[in-house]
Amino acid sequence: MQHSVSIRDLSLNFGNVKVLEHLNLDIAQGEFIVLLGPSGCGKSTLLNCIAGLLDVSDGQIFISGKNVTWEEPKDRGIGMVFQSYALYPQMTVEKNLSFGLRVAGMPKAEIDQRVQRAAEILQIQPLLQRKPANLSGGQRQRVAIGRALVRDVDVFLFDEPLSNLDAKLRSDLRVEIKRLHQRLKNTMIYVTHDQIEALTLADRIAIMKNGVIQQLADPHTIYNKPTNLYVAGFIGSPS
Ligand code: ADP
Ligand code: MG
Repeated sequence: MQHSVSIRDLSLNFGNVKVLEHLNLDIAQGEFIVLLGPSGCGKSTLLNCIAGLLDVSDGQIFISGKNVTWEEPKDRGIGMVFQSYALYPQMTVEKNLSFGLRVAGMPKAEIDQRVQRAAEILQIQPLLQRKPANLSGGQRQRVAIGRALVRDVDVFLFDEPLSNLDAKLRSDLRVEIKRLHQRLKNTMIYVTHDQIEALTLADRIAIMKNGVIQQLADPHTIYNKPTNLYVAGFIGSPS
């Protein structure tokens, strides 16, 4: 079977600090993988390597069977959603959603169709003519997800997308991301340090410590059969 994402013996150093070491990970088409671990363990670094925002020190990354290790981010078939929304403040929601497609030269009719579809899925149609400053945090994060959605990518990458939101919004949006995955059935790689998010969203959880995956398994197995004390302590003591 061809994997959606394959990471082969990936290492990344910042200077002489080893942040990721000989990491391997195979992700199936349509799988929801959560990278879970404490702050500083290398989650964002791994995600940024997959996105092409960081050059790897060693190893390879395959997306849909193609070696993308040295491909530009825009050529990798991925969409990324960050913790801070990274919206263009001077543009309306509609323009924020369509910007990348306009730059790519897509015909206007298709752009409009994609923007409408994303707005419908994320329930942001009434917000299309507003600017980011006039949106709540949860609405901004929906727009950020929408920007990945309109590009019709194979793989979604999320880096702690909910951590700037209050508890109620966080649980609402968590349910929505789950629904989005059930509807789109694309591959999602989701970084968090939140055990509840990991247990409720993931098909499989990769528990990381110091740039190494300690255990990779479904939530039930991780919770009930942790392979070591680190995993048991981390998943057993919600913050
Ligand atoms: P996480 O997302 O799990 O909190 P990161 O991937 O951001 O962790 O960081 C992993 C480690 O790499 C940390 O020790 C961090 O200080 C270090 N690091 C991250 N980015 C850089 C950088 N640009 N230069 C040097 N060190 C970095
Ligand atoms: Mg991070």
